[in-house]
Amino acid sequence: MITKLRKTLCALSILSLITANPSLAVNEQDIINADKTPGVWLSHGRTYDEKRFSPLEQIHSDNVDDLGLTWQYATGNTRGMEATPIVADGVMYITTAWSRVAALDAKTGKSIWTFDPMVAGKKGRDACCDVVNRGLAIWGDTVFLGALDGRLIALNKHDGKVIWSQQTTDPKKPYTITGAPRVVKGKVIIGNGGAEFGVRGYFSAYHVLTGELAWRFYTVPTQLQEVNEGEHLSKARDSWSPQSLWNTGLGGTVWDSFAYDPSLNLLYVGVGNASQYNRKQRSPGGGDNLFVASILAVNPDTGKLVWHYQTTPAESWDYTATQHMILADINIMGQERKVLMQAPKNGFFYVIDRATGELISAKNYVPVNWASHIDVESGRPVETGIGDWSNTQRMISPAIIGGHNWHPMSYSDSTGLVYIPTIHTTYPYKPNSQYQYDPKGFNTGEDFAGLAASSPDIVPGFCSPTRLTAWDPVEQKQAWQVKFSRGVSAGILSTAGGLVFQGTTDGALHAYNDNDGDLLWSQNVNVGIMAPPISYAVDGEQYIAVLAGLGGSQGGHGDELENANSGHVFAFKLNGNLTPPNIASRDTLVKVQATALDEESYSRGRSLYAVHCLRCHGFAAKSSGLYPDLRHSEQGVHNIWKEIVIDGVFADKGMASFKDSLNSDDVNDIHGYVIQQAISSDALTHRLLKRVVSQVCIPAEWLAD
Ligand code: CA
Repeated sequence: MITKLRKTLCALSILSLITANPSLAVNEQDIINADKTPGVWLSHGRTYDEKRFSPLEQIHSDNVDDLGLTWQYATGNTRGMEATPIVADGVMYITTAWSRVAALDAKTGKSIWTFDPMVAGKKGRDACCDVVNRGLAIWGDTVFLGALDGRLIALNKHDGKVIWSQQTTDPKKPYTITGAPRVVKGKVIIGNGGAEFGVRGYFSAYHVLTGELAWRFYTVPTQLQEVNEGEHLSKARDSWSPQSLWNTGLGGTVWDSFAYDPSLNLLYVGVGNASQYNRKQRSPGGGDNLFVASILAVNPDTGKLVWHYQTTPAESWDYTATQHMILADINIMGQERKVLMQAPKNGFFYVIDRATGELISAKNYVPVNWASHIDVESGRPVETGIGDWSNTQRMISPAIIGGHNWHPMSYSDSTGLVYIPTIHTTYPYKPNSQYQYDPKGFNTGEDFAGLAASSPDIVPGFCSPTRLTAWDPVEQKQAWQVKFSRGVSAGILSTAGGLVFQGTTDGALHAYNDNDGDLLWSQNVNVGIMAPPISYAVDGEQYIAVLAGLGGSQGGHGDELENANSGHVFAFKLNGNLTPPNIASRDTLVKVQATALDEESYSRGRSLYAVHCLRCHGFAAKSSGLYPDLRHSEQGVHNIWKEIVIDGVFADKGMASFKDSLNSDDVNDIHGYVIQQAISSDALTHRLLKRVVSQVCIPAEWLAD
């Protein structure tokens, strides 16, 4: 009772501040002082420290039972939704698949304006992991969008009209933008992705008002020693072999995370994996390959490197350090430390002194077998050798999707815990000994054809592939954990109301007790959720909101969806009583009638499928349903198969032409293989197989102690 009274009083005092945001045009001080106006959400991680912790506590553990849906907005598209909304002055700004933008009344969900940058559908071929977008930045009267095709676009926040637009990447190369910009000291910071295809990573700063380039920071060197692109690259060049595969661009893309400490004047940047993956082929003879898989601290005024910490030297497994970084001041061994925390894909949770880059501690937060531990003295992982790419495929943990991917975590100022959406899987890395750079294709150096031939039906994983893990960063140990049987991870919000919010693959939003992980509240919305929830307030009422819609790197594979994927924004408040949408079941699966292929065409089709089609349409031609399940294509699709793959007649839908990579015979064999897969696994057997696959567990002996 006393707790309840205290919470009500606190809520009242905070709510009196909610509508007191004095400035309609957002500036840096508004973001720095965001805790004084907790009803707004002005930057990707709410504040520059990216804690994703809301000080609002009108909704708390004692009344969360009364939380209910109050408005919903259908985005009108069916691909992955990963964005964090921005909320300012009662308006919510969101991005959806294909880099589309909408401004909504944050109280009612009514559309104010929408903007479609009209990204060409064929650009979808350059996206490793769906045509997603993670959100906007806001500054002054402008919102900033990074579009999939590499444009950075400034929009008038009142009407969605374009103020300026800059092409930030070479449109001839397979760069994409899926990450949210940040605005720091009057500059828009934006990175890009594409390391799987082979590009050179960098991030840039543009002036907010003019769109003029202020500076650009390349994360990896080129072979050309005479080109001066900053001192940091002279140092980096020594960490690469002179025989490196320079034409792949080397990777090191900056596709997601940034954080900023105004008092230290440091911009923190998460750098992605190397291109291609296998270091023995990529940089023969060794070297750490700076600055792949690193955290960088950069002066935002000049774009000059201040310090770096490489999480995975000579990264070889797609172990990006682009994962969400959180800045907090925490007490470690009696000392107040300014730390940066990250749970990158490599499976270790890092606590780093953010002023100096010194490693304070690191501990694995998921099962890991590529390294035994991180040596704190040197700051380097101690590799076990299990991850040393050999010609025999090995099961390596974490998997290629990482122990934690893009899904944001959250740090609670109340509990001091970090809530991490963790992924517990393993992956059979297999090198392609015949690898050659392909300017039009995937350049990870993996032998997809060999993998498809040796394990055609198994998608390996742990029994419980995704979890919500509450992590104590001081003790470096798990505080509590919730296990899910289904496979797509989802971002986190924690609040001063003692709650942790997370969505689920099967279409619900959950609220947990932040101290012990007790499930306190759940509501079905009938659309799978991966995006992180946010909290804001309008007219004295607190809201929880989240985008729904599966997709991304995990969404196309794995569990088959029951329902169609229908992009939505859902907003909840106390005593909300709206009924969630009724989402239709997926279309009835179509069965094909055809004769079996000869063995040679079948295995040729299987190899070509694995190299060119698998990453979207799924292992063994089994899609989760987000991308068309080719086995169940309508007859009309079979009739124009060649026109689709060669001539690109579905390019507007995201299916680009592959005529630069496949000829008519290739397409015939792929078609035959898909038909064969359809014959050998009709809808019933597929569902049975799904159950079997979900029971394939990774034996403990595959993992190091
Ligand atoms: Ca990657």
